[in-house]
Amino acid sequence: MIRPEDSAWAIPVAQVSSRPGQRQEVDAAYPAPDGIGDQIVGVQEGSDIRVDGAFDSIVDGLVLQAHVVAPLHAECTRCLTPINRDWGLDTTVFFPYAPQPTGAMHHNARAAEDRANSEVEIIAGEDESEDTYPLSADGAYADIEALLRDTLVENLPLQLLCKPNCRGLCPQCGINLNEHPDHRHDVTDIRFASLAGLKAQLEQEQQ
Ligand SMILES: [Zn+2]
Ligand SMILES: [Zn+2]
Repeated sequence: MIRPEDSAWAIPVAQVSSRPGQRQEVDAAYPAPDGIGDQIVGVQEGSDIRVDGAFDSIVDGLVLQAHVVAPLHAECTRCLTPINRDWGLDTTVFFPYAPQPTGAMHHNARAAEDRANSEVEIIAGEDESEDTYPLSADGAYADIEALLRDTLVENLPLQLLCKPNCRGLCPQCGINLNEHPDHRHDVTDIRFASLAGLKAQLEQEQQ
């Protein structure tokens, strides 16, 4: 049997679980789950993803707000040069508690909600449309594997440049114009060549 805590992405939250108003900081690295992007743009499975944030305990669950930094690999969309850089983004997700079986518990929860910090309640209200993930059955662990995958996949950058002013590739021969800034094809010579050919042809016809 696989226990919740055996997951590499399990964060113990028993200290704050069902204790509204409590906060638990998170600052650790977790392995990148599989399935984040592809060979062109993505995060290599198993590479370190830094998660820096906090769980806020509210009446009906835990809100995790975190800054996530992952090592992104990609290709410049103009010159196809490989890009490897840290990619940071913010995420807010909700881990609801399992529904309580009795009405008495619900009543107690209401009372606790009245006592809860108003700022935390505002955060909770904003999070109703946010992504939701289950806690372990006993409420002691929040597993962040799925949220890491979902958050990173949803936000994968599709238009990355190696540098803001990347010159791209020569449309005629594909040479990298960043490495060969003076590269050009002598288009005017080709035009003159055809003009010269036309001139020679006309002269021939006139003879
Ligand atoms: Zn480029
Ligand atoms: Zn060229």
